[in-house]
Amino acid sequence: MIELSDRLNAMEESATIAMSRKSRELKAEGKDVISLSLGEPDFHTPEFIKEAANEAMKNNFTTYTPVPGYEDLRQAISDKFKRDNDLHYGTDQIVVSTGAKQSIANVVMSIVNQGDEVIIPAPFWVSYIEIVKVSEGTPVVVNAGIESDFKITPSQLEAAITPKTKMMIFSTPCNPTGSVYSKEELRALADVLKKYPHIVAICDEIYEHINFTSKHASLAQFEDIYDQVVTVNGVSKAWAMTGWRLGYIGASKKIASACTKVQGQFTSGTCSITQKASIAALKADPQVLTDMIGAFESRRKLVLEALNTIEGVQTNVPEGAFYVFPDVSYFYGKSFNGQTINNGSDLCMYLLNEALVALVTGEAFGDPNCIRISYAASEETLIEAMKRVKTALEKLS
Ligand code: PMP
Ligand code: GLU
Repeated sequence: MIELSDRLNAMEESATIAMSRKSRELKAEGKDVISLSLGEPDFHTPEFIKEAANEAMKNNFTTYTPVPGYEDLRQAISDKFKRDNDLHYGTDQIVVSTGAKQSIANVVMSIVNQGDEVIIPAPFWVSYIEIVKVSEGTPVVVNAGIESDFKITPSQLEAAITPKTKMMIFSTPCNPTGSVYSKEELRALADVLKKYPHIVAICDEIYEHINFTSKHASLAQFEDIYDQVVTVNGVSKAWAMTGWRLGYIGASKKIASACTKVQGQFTSGTCSITQKASIAALKADPQVLTDMIGAFESRRKLVLEALNTIEGVQTNVPEGAFYVFPDVSYFYGKSFNGQTINNGSDLCMYLLNEALVALVTGEAFGDPNCIRISYAASEETLIEAMKRVKTALEKLS
């Protein structure tokens, strides 16, 4: 009998992907499921990006590429970092990968040894924990609840640091909470990190452009910790390019070379056509994203207003990304038709079966009191989904 590895057996399936798979299956059975489970823009990739891909194919950019990405793409990323984030990364400090997910995996695999501790503020994005576990590191979760806008404080960070701490991973704007760390809040975290120069901080900025209140702030902007920070970003979210698969890091040369080495054995450079198309995205003026950001902002309002009409649902106001992460623990212990809701997973299954709305349980993101709603869907869809959720929740007693 073939046995799978302990490493694989210890790994959880991605809850976001599992829920979207379930809703696809129900749709295939003819059920009218509304899926708000996957963090994926409902816009199409802009035409000028598709044109650049066509050009790349016509010009036979169809062969293997340099492992860290084409030089002109890395130059475009370097220019983007300067233009949008005031970050200075040379092209030899940039590694392009098959999505930000792989970028994060490369860094963790390059740095974490067996038993090394990796601090992960909760709520966190689902894959951080599993990437750390598969690299034989030990995730150390630091909880930030809704009362602190789901953000950790410098003293919480410092209290979690031990002699075994090697890394910290977080996102701003945050998936699943939409919380955004301000420049001052990041400076305060940097003040802690600089006391421990061997700790690497991965700052995942994939939602940078989807920010409704302030200008995006990068952790690497602080010179005293610049070498400790790995900035992760990509084209999936802002440019509606989730299927194209391109993410990237800016890091010290040492970490960038390590990631190139890992990637050279695992996947090589990402798709040549995607790389050329992404140059067009990265060179475009981010101003062109204004309409999309406006659309997300009105959807956020719609979802929050709808949730706030349901007794027992507690929300904060997410400042970025396209998720709302309400506390729904009020419903735990309640029942309908003999089915009792004990936790977020039960509630998500109940909403899937009773309301035909797919959401993701907060347990997967490290906060069992909450569930995640992705509002990357049309207003019409969101109105219908919120109506169904309200009706189903109000049946619980
Ligand atoms: N980080 C966060 C916080 C995300 O939500 C996602 C979701 N896709 C990723 C990284 C990975 O993005 P990519 O599509 O570039 O792999
Ligand atoms: N990041 C998105 C999400 O959180 C897409 C799914 C995934 O890559 O896990 O839903």
